[in-house]
Amino acid sequence: MTCFASDRERKRRRFDVVPLTGDDLTLTELQRVIRDLYGAKDQRRGVEGTFMWFMEEVGELAAALRSGTHEERAAEFADVLAWLATLANGVNVDLGAAVAAKYGAGCPGCRQVPCSCGLAEKP
Ligand SMILES: [Mg+2]
Ligand SMILES: [Zn+2]
Repeated sequence: MTCFASDRERKRRRFDVVPLTGDDLTLTELQRVIRDLYGAKDQRRGVEGTFMWFMEEVGELAAALRSGTHEERAAEFADVLAWLATLANGVNVDLGAAVAAKYGAGCPGCRQVPCSCGLAEKP
């Protein structure tokens, strides 16, 4: 009995993608999606190289915020978030847990909701 899928079956599975919707996408799912899409390549590139791509995307977001359309801005936010998830995957940081730990109980500076830190302070 053979356990190997046919080439055609492997190709079909490879592109058998369930489309994501934004409504219910958690940070954990985002990290899984990015790992499924790019995990192997990301591991070969390493965190240093990935950080360079992340910063390039931050620059593209800056340009889109300055003069882009709504659609261009949305696409650049997606790119920055995707590369941030890649970085987190690369150093085994769970983004959802990290955000909850830092921001889940009020402002990390003053512990208030909403923040009562002075405007000149970085919370
Ligand atoms: Mg981009
Ligand atoms: Zn505060």
